[in-house]
Amino acid sequence: MPHPTTIPAQLLQVQERIQQACVTAARDPLSVRLLAVSKTFPASQVAEAFAAGQTAFGENYIQEAVEKITALAHLPLEWHCIGPIQSNKTRLVAEHFDWVHSLDRLKIAQRLSEQRPDNLAPLNVCLQINIDGGSTKSGVAPQEALALAQAVAQLPRLRLRGIMTIPEPSENFASASKAHRDARALFDALCQSGLALDTLSMGMSADLEAAISEGSTMVRVGSAIFGGRA
Ligand SMILES: *Cc1c(COP(=O)(O)O)cnc(C)c1O
Repeated sequence: MPHPTTIPAQLLQVQERIQQACVTAARDPLSVRLLAVSKTFPASQVAEAFAAGQTAFGENYIQEAVEKITALAHLPLEWHCIGPIQSNKTRLVAEHFDWVHSLDRLKIAQRLSEQRPDNLAPLNVCLQINIDGGSTKSGVAPQEALALAQAVAQLPRLRLRGIMTIPEPSENFASASKAHRDARALFDALCQSGLALDTLSMGMSADLEAAISEGSTMVRVGSAIFGGRA
């Protein structure tokens, strides 16, 4: 008989994968955070994951996210925007999210900073980097990352935390690792240039072990927790 697949059981399985990857990489398991990517799944399933101990959730679609954030406002959840942000959505993002991982344009950063309400903490942001020049058009090119990071770091209502990458899917651990290694090298170079960064957001359901072995500090996991998406 196959095991029943429930959100708490799958969450535990992902936590164990992270734990094991940290052991293999000789890293402190507390140095990797789990972001549960709940896009397309209803608020009730987010609440289920919260009941099982998960507090940080990632969403791609702003309108869908705001509905869930509003419905679950009674829970102490941390919400991360990981999808593309159009100019006309920046106010919703600034007012409802705690983090943005998908920042790749200064104009969007300026709007988020201007629109971040005074009664909220600065918005935590990561720059999305197109690390392998892949067909996902989002993300700033690696050679433009430093200039954008320095400009974003000046914005008063944003707090620059690091970088995020979505490497092209790859068949095996070794080829996944190249993009992760490049991202880690860029992260280190930005830190050495004087930026105080603490977040390397990389690794998803399929590649979290490879990402952790190359230094990821936050893995964004959807289907391995909530199941397949339509
Ligand atoms: C959907 C998504 C994820 C999660 O992907 P899974 O393969 O379901 O774990 C992570 N990051 C981003 C940016 C996503 O869009």
